[in-house]
Amino acid sequence: MRKVRRRDTGAEMCLRRALWKVGLRYRTNLPVAGATPDVVFTRAKVAVFVDGCFWHGCPTHYVAPVNNAEFWRKRLTQNQTRDARDTLRLEAAGWTVLRLWECEVLRRTEDAVARVRAEVS
Ligand SMILES: [Zn+2]
Repeated sequence: MRKVRRRDTGAEMCLRRALWKVGLRYRTNLPVAGATPDVVFTRAKVAVFVDGCFWHGCPTHYVAPVNNAEFWRKRLTQNQTRDARDTLRLEAAGWTVLRLWECEVLRRTEDAVARVRAEVS
């Protein structure tokens, strides 16, 4: 159960299109320092994750499932533990890590792009 995050989610694609539109060029699905960020800027050493509100426990939108509550609670803890570990590993290797919530990307795409741009340029 290594990969929980679905690839090419709506929010991720939304961000990628927006970044492309403003002229930022990136790599995707590139393993870096034991993690696989959603969007990677190799020269600037910036790794971007688009975290799904459900899978990663967004404080605004996460609603714990009623059925199999214990299973889902553990699953969320595992995901969050891995997120924290990946962030630490990347930072230890000299990378700047940006974690954006799915909801932020979808609702305020321009702000998300601005945050990424501020780190890569
Ligand atoms: Zn959210």
